[in-house]
Amino acid sequence: MIQRVFRAGTSSPTSDAERSSSAPAVRLVDVTHEYGSPGGRLRSSHDRTVTALRDVSVDVRPGDIVGLEGPSGSGKSTILHAVAGLLVPTDGTVELLGTDLTSCSDRGRTRLRRRHVGIVFQRFHLLPSLSARANVALPLVQTGVSKATRRERATTLLKRVGLEDRVTHLPGELSGGERQRVAIARALATDPEVIVADEPTGELDTATGESVLELLTDVGRDRAVVVASHDDAMLSVADRVITLRDGRVVSDAG
Ligand code: ADP
Repeated sequence: MIQRVFRAGTSSPTSDAERSSSAPAVRLVDVTHEYGSPGGRLRSSHDRTVTALRDVSVDVRPGDIVGLEGPSGSGKSTILHAVAGLLVPTDGTVELLGTDLTSCSDRGRTRLRRRHVGIVFQRFHLLPSLSARANVALPLVQTGVSKATRRERATTLLKRVGLEDRVTHLPGELSGGERQRVAIARALATDPEVIVADEPTGELDTATGESVLELLTDVGRDRAVVVASHDDAMLSVADRVITLRDGRVVSDAG
């Protein structure tokens, strides 16, 4: 898989015609999720059941950037977790590249996520004791490629996100925007078809946020990107914005 040509930078932007003819990379059908019911994880045993999603259906095609907006608690992160196979909804199906994640074993789901989904978090989630390059190389450790190849690939990705002079820096030595660039490079390590991002510009000032969203738009050109955000600038580059309220889709505008 590592030998595949790195998508962004080699491909041309996906046209509308190509997009509408391609099969969805991600498909949620009638997804309902209750935290606290069997299979749903509760924060604590004292919590009551919480219905986080109700009958949500969404298709995301390669080349699409889909924005999720809605107030805090409306279900955005739960959708991202379902897409990444980090949770199995209590009802409905979640397909990743044509495979129904809800009928996979835990191991199968983990394997699919590691190969096909890159995840970008608001707070970067970098390991503080590892260099930028080692953080980026981390997802490749499980793929069986040699250390030399991992380093080479991580260096290429850091160059791709404009951090060729920060390869050996620790996260603590980088600015917020640089950390998010490292996190995006890490999300690209396995050349995934799908990227999920939870408030990727949430911790950044406006100018830094804009440069990060430019990067996300660029790397998303032939991937399916699902991004939860409150940031108008981020939502304005999305091909579609889905608005959630209380776990329901209240609008889905292209
Ligand atoms: P958003 O990302 O839009 O802020 P979430 O998907 O995080 O929304 O949350 C949707 C609902 O599910 C909220 O009511 C939230 O409190 C609840 N919730 C999220 N995670 C858990 C959990 N692990 N246990 C119990 N309730 C949760």
